Amino acid sequence: MTQPDPQTCEVKIKGKWRPVSLDKAVSRYAVVMKRCPACHGPVSINGAYSGPTFGKTMTHRRAHSGCPLKPDTYSGTFSPHPLALT
Ligand SMILES: [Zn+2]
Repeated sequence: MTQPDPQTCEVKIKGKWRPVSLDKAVSRYAVVMKRCPACHGPVSINGAYSGPTFGKTMTHRRAHSGCPLKPDTYSGTFSPHPLALT
């Protein structure tokens, strides 16, 4: 099993969740629902929307202590997001 990439989120394309880079999620799937690849909670992408800045970050719409992609709030034990998208 591979570790989720913090620079990747999942986008629902034709009924299936697919991993895409944050850059692609913003440029190609701006209006599509996005979720965290680890806990499957809904996320939004923040950061520069144009220009050469590599500053995009994935932000959970609702804080969740069970997600290893959020080191700031991770409790150390993985758990699915309470609002996980399926
Ligand atoms: Zn997460």
